[in-house]
Amino acid sequence: MNALNKPAIELAAAIRSGEISAVSAVEARLSEIATRDAEIAAFVQVLNEEALAAATSVDDRVATGEDPGPLAGVPIALKDNLCTRGIPTTCCSRILEGWKPPYEATVVSRLRNAGAVVVGKTNLDEFAMGSSTENSAFGTTRNPHDLSCVPGGSSGGSAAAVAAGFTPLALGSDTGGSIRQPAALCGVVGVKPTYGRVSRYGLIAFASSLDQIGPFATSVADAATLLEVIGGHDPADSTSIPEAMPSLSECLGRGVEGMRIGLVAELCDGVSSDVARRVSEASEALAGGGATVEEVSVPASRFGLSAYYLIAPAEASSNLARYDGVRYGMRTESSNAVEMNIATRTAGFGEEVKRRIMLGTFALSAGYYDAYYGKALKVRTLIIEDFNRAYEHFDALIAPTSPTTAFEIGSRTDDPLEMYLSDVCTVPSSLAGHPAMSVPFGSGDVNENNICLPVGVQVLAPAMGEETMFRVGAFLESVAVNVAESVAREALTSEALTSRDG
Ligand code: GLN
Repeated sequence: MNALNKPAIELAAAIRSGEISAVSAVEARLSEIATRDAEIAAFVQVLNEEALAAATSVDDRVATGEDPGPLAGVPIALKDNLCTRGIPTTCCSRILEGWKPPYEATVVSRLRNAGAVVVGKTNLDEFAMGSSTENSAFGTTRNPHDLSCVPGGSSGGSAAAVAAGFTPLALGSDTGGSIRQPAALCGVVGVKPTYGRVSRYGLIAFASSLDQIGPFATSVADAATLLEVIGGHDPADSTSIPEAMPSLSECLGRGVEGMRIGLVAELCDGVSSDVARRVSEASEALAGGGATVEEVSVPASRFGLSAYYLIAPAEASSNLARYDGVRYGMRTESSNAVEMNIATRTAGFGEEVKRRIMLGTFALSAGYYDAYYGKALKVRTLIIEDFNRAYEHFDALIAPTSPTTAFEIGSRTDDPLEMYLSDVCTVPSSLAGHPAMSVPFGSGDVNENNICLPVGVQVLAPAMGEETMFRVGAFLESVAVNVAESVAREALTSEALTSRDG
């Protein structure tokens, strides 16, 4: 492995010990981005100068004997809905084009304090509404494993940046699956923490009762370190849990002996056979590691998608009312204030965002409120109760992350409902506010382009159950290597058989 291309923890250790410089590590990644991101389009903005300046200051601190922090000199990519002071933050919407936040998200300050170096802002579905990154106003990101496929969404740029080797770490936001689903489709680790674990201060709001920031990484250990850095109480976010982040790194090697793990029946319904196969292999591997694994029913999770697509648009319609042509970003001049407001929003928002605002406004309107929004909230409560009942018998649950592997660009854009179905496995835990993560676990069947795309297995845990979740995630990661090897062996054998038969 190239010395500069190490996983985050090793890279930080090498930089802290002075073995390699932060500047050389950052330069290496910037040059990779410059040569290869034209075809992937993970970034909407690369911060060459800022990154090199930050890396220089890390090196200066190492030289004077200071400790620059656990992520010293580690390049990181940020989803472009995280506020960076003085640096354009667009949510990949025309309406915020050119807007420079006067303040910084708490996670960004925590990253800088830990020595991480922000190298750029990544592409997303406009205002994080989507499952493919095709709803960005600034172009589509491509899946590094197959450029004709989507990277998933909405944090597709962050997932692709890590999968392409542009940065060992990235941050995304997850409202209904936007970290986990792209992580699965791009073959990287993605974590949605418990609601309230990570400060949302400076995350541009989509659906405030669901939004959470979380890590992307190439390994469970790197994701744990990143979550330790960004997590923990923040008085600037009223929903922030007043507890310190536990050490997750310590739990990783503990295995799953004696754990009780449930396979969520409802979330396995209708998933493609290649994904289902990997999930059952994951169950067998957990049993092999000494856990008891049983199927469990979380009945109300069947209605998760319907409830989510009322609650999230309802909150979005309210949150996005602030883009009025007066306070942020673009303005389309008109004869009076109301006309200006209409013209700005008509020109500034894309089709999916307008669809959500209309759906949400309708669900909240007098006469329909109880039938739609109120009912969705009741379903949300049932989902929480059903999960809590399952956790009386199980320490953690597993499920597929996405019903399919990465799909062709353009194949779901004509049918919003089909696109929404991409989130069927991730929204239930979002509605419950529980933590969940996606761990790469082998690959799917060979696609039309002769490529086997990554599969992610989802690990779910009760609220504040990150330690358990990471323990299971680390175990699955350790056995996934064997799965990858057996896939390679199978492919070789079938090649050998074909050439013998042919
Ligand atoms: N794909 C889901 C949606 O479009 C989830 C988005 C997200 O988590 N930000 O709402």
